[in-house]
Amino acid sequence: MPHGTPETPENTGRTSANGHAVDVDVVVVGAGGGGLTAAIAAAEAGASVALLEKLDRAGGNTFVSTGSIPAAGTRYQREAGIDDSPERMAEDLLRQSGGHDAEHLVRFLAKESAGLVEWLVEQHGVDLRIITDYKHVGHSVQRLHAPPDRRGASLVRDLTAAAKRLDVEVVPGNPVTGLLIEGGRIAGVRVGDPGRGGEVLRSRAVVLASNGFGNNKEMIARWIPETGAARYFGAEGSTGEAITWARDLGARLLNMGAYQGYAAVAYPHGSIVSWTTVEKGGFLLAPDGSRMGDESVGYSGFAAVVSRTTDESWVVFDTRIRDFVAGNEPEFAELVRIGGVKEADTPEGIAAVIGCPAQAVAAAIEDQRTAATARAADSQGRTDFPMGALTAPYCAVRSVPALFHTQGGVDVDSDAQVVREDGSVVPGLYAVGGVTGGLSGRSGGRGYSSGNGLLSAVGLGRIAGAAAGRRG
Ligand SMILES: Cc1cc2nc3c(=O)[nH]c(=O)nc-3n(C[C@H](O)[C@H](O)[C@H](O)COP(=O)(O)OP(=O)(O)OC[C@H]3O[C@@H](n4cnc5c(N)ncnc54)[C@H](O)[C@@H]3O)c2cc1C
Repeated sequence: MPHGTPETPENTGRTSANGHAVDVDVVVVGAGGGGLTAAIAAAEAGASVALLEKLDRAGGNTFVSTGSIPAAGTRYQREAGIDDSPERMAEDLLRQSGGHDAEHLVRFLAKESAGLVEWLVEQHGVDLRIITDYKHVGHSVQRLHAPPDRRGASLVRDLTAAAKRLDVEVVPGNPVTGLLIEGGRIAGVRVGDPGRGGEVLRSRAVVLASNGFGNNKEMIARWIPETGAARYFGAEGSTGEAITWARDLGARLLNMGAYQGYAAVAYPHGSIVSWTTVEKGGFLLAPDGSRMGDESVGYSGFAAVVSRTTDESWVVFDTRIRDFVAGNEPEFAELVRIGGVKEADTPEGIAAVIGCPAQAVAAAIEDQRTAATARAADSQGRTDFPMGALTAPYCAVRSVPALFHTQGGVDVDSDAQVVREDGSVVPGLYAVGGVTGGLSGRSGGRGYSSGNGLLSAVGLGRIAGAAAGRRG
């Protein structure tokens, strides 16, 4: 057994569907949002679970995310007076993404979403609240549920505590290096370097929860070359090996060209410039002070627009928007506190901060003012300015576009079991989150709706864990 795996009467002496002895019922590969949730659901179903993490600590991309999970028809929405339904959610996501290979997962997860969030909050003490101060990209009503501080680290903390209450501990420093197959079904995993004392952990089921391939240059070059210039801003562990293992077993791959980008990571501070600054009425300028397009395509779609134009850009808004966002989003408040948000009384002052012609900034602000006041489209075709015309003093943040995570991966059925090209399943092999085909279109960053990443991780995590825990 890998070092650190708790040895208990429950995780020894069991047998697989082939009649072999197993060390543990369910192995979960990766301790991010999807893996932690799968482990909780499997343990809840009565299974013994080994939750293996290759890095020194749990969390993955979930840790660095804002922890926002979309769900339609929750009691928290109803209490806030928000009318929503799974059908509306699926329509919203599909409108944003266009047609793609995983529409079945969109409809399925939209249907599961309310039960998922209520289960996390009420059964497992995960602190999630409905966000009412913005809707974010792709959603026609407020349906994102996030930790009060809007930090993925808090989501990971709560999921880890819930797993611990069910006697599941994360086992860090244990990279899974391959799958064990016997008689055509999963029989466990290989852990560590086989040449250096690596070992085998036998199980009835394996849940692949190791995210996508954002941190694998070869896979990025093969599947999503358009993101080559963008910095990868996700967690180090997303190196795509589980997708390759599943593919080697014949898994069908879906939406491999899709990804979540982000148009504006503060530079050099390295924190997200909240997109609420843009949604409320701000815009992005290239270093020469020109607009690059209509930002209402969303932060992910706009990342490619920025990447095509320039290495860096500036997010421009005003102090009303700054104070509104900082009052709701601690990470942005921190960016303000450490001086990442520059302020000036005039367009000329903002131009001096950017280092571009004053006339360019004045024209962009005037364009926004005219459109917001007349409720008409600006020069880029944008019509949405909820906080009206920008007013002095103005703000600007230097930023760069980034790749957050990949959205392509393997197909799964309604138990989150991996599906092969011929439609059959790989018995005992489950996949969740970034390992699976995403909800954001076939290719590009434009189809990403906020929360698609965690919905797939945590939503499929619950389903995979329950199925694997029930029957292996
Ligand atoms: C800055 C940022 C903000 C984001 N904000 C949001 C948001 O608010 N809402 C949203 O829905 N999405 C958001 N996303 C995307 C979201 O974080 C991911 O889609 C989601 O966290 C994926 O969850 P996961 O469980 O699949 O993977 P992860 O959380 O990345 O977990 C995978 C884990 O598996 C481990 N692992 C990898 N390979 C192995 C192996 N061979 N053996 C053992 N362990 C392994 C990794 O080290 C990692 O800990 C954001 C992403 C970023 C970068």
